[in-house]
Amino acid sequence: MDISVVIPLLNEEESLPELATWIDRVMQENHFSYEIVFVDDGSTDDSWQVIGALREKNPNIKGIKFQRNYGKSAALNEAFRATQGNVVITMDADLQDSPDEIPELYRMIIEDRYDLVSGWKKVRYDNTVTKNLPSKFFNAVTRKVSKIKLNDFNCGLKSYNKKVIKSIEVYGEMHRYIPVLAKWAGFKKIGEKVVEHRKRKYGVSKFGWDRFINGFLDLLSITFVGKFSKRPMHFFGVWGMLFFMIGFFSALYLIIAKIVSPDFSISNRPGFYISLTAVVIGVQLFMAGFIGELIARNAPGRNAYLIEAKTGLD
Ligand code: UDP
Ligand code: MG
Repeated sequence: MDISVVIPLLNEEESLPELATWIDRVMQENHFSYEIVFVDDGSTDDSWQVIGALREKNPNIKGIKFQRNYGKSAALNEAFRATQGNVVITMDADLQDSPDEIPELYRMIIEDRYDLVSGWKKVRYDNTVTKNLPSKFFNAVTRKVSKIKLNDFNCGLKSYNKKVIKSIEVYGEMHRYIPVLAKWAGFKKIGEKVVEHRKRKYGVSKFGWDRFINGFLDLLSITFVGKFSKRPMHFFGVWGMLFFMIGFFSALYLIIAKIVSPDFSISNRPGFYISLTAVVIGVQLFMAGFIGELIARNAPGRNAYLIEAKTGLD
């Protein structure tokens, strides 16, 4: 199978028939074998019935329905486990992404050998104040932290080599950082394609401004997990030792000063408080590292590594 189109959706019943027809037309014109995997993320409208009706007419259409709303990341993750196509393309259900982009996104994976190609909504049709400005800030921070040169990390329209989506786990609200997850899993050839962005035709946006707070915390944990989850002591231990040393030496200085001149009053000097706090912080950090290390050593995934290939073994 050439292409799996993955579409997470929450209450998008009006868009689905038009979207399915459009994708099918593009696939027929380009002679692709394909499947569409709809993930109904706990819709309360008739989205699931619509998907059922679409499947009756077109067996390439498949669906997963969550019992409740888990979020876009969970929906993507579930669909990624199920896909069969060599190239996996994700898009939003609201007709803001154009299926006409599919052939080129496919070509860039197969011929240009990109691991991942992310859409770039260079011209956006969303509200400027609540979407465009915060998203500019987000993209800038993510670019800095991840060192991936993308203009638009959070575009719903992306294509992947099958290997990428089978290697990563998307949860929380990390769908915004899939390129970062892909990079951590060793897929470095990440490209970008300017895509057409359209006005939402039906329904309403499902994300409010709170996504920026959650998104920022996810960025922190993604960076931290990527770097230190298998070796917490290397982070906490270093800072713990540093603080402990500062505390220890300033305490030593105070003690020596007291011995040399018995009138020297220890407790009203700044050094006293610095040394006290620094030793406490240092020990705390060291303990956090140590406990983290114990947990990491016993975590089920501690020896789960992504293996690129094997020979003579299965
Ligand atoms: N979506 C989802 N689960 C959610 C929220 C959104 O599956 O909890 C889907 C939604 O139906 C749409 C896509 O994710 O297909 C993008 O959402 P939306 O268009 O509301 O986001 P925006 O374009 O406003 O950023
Ligand atoms: Mg949208």
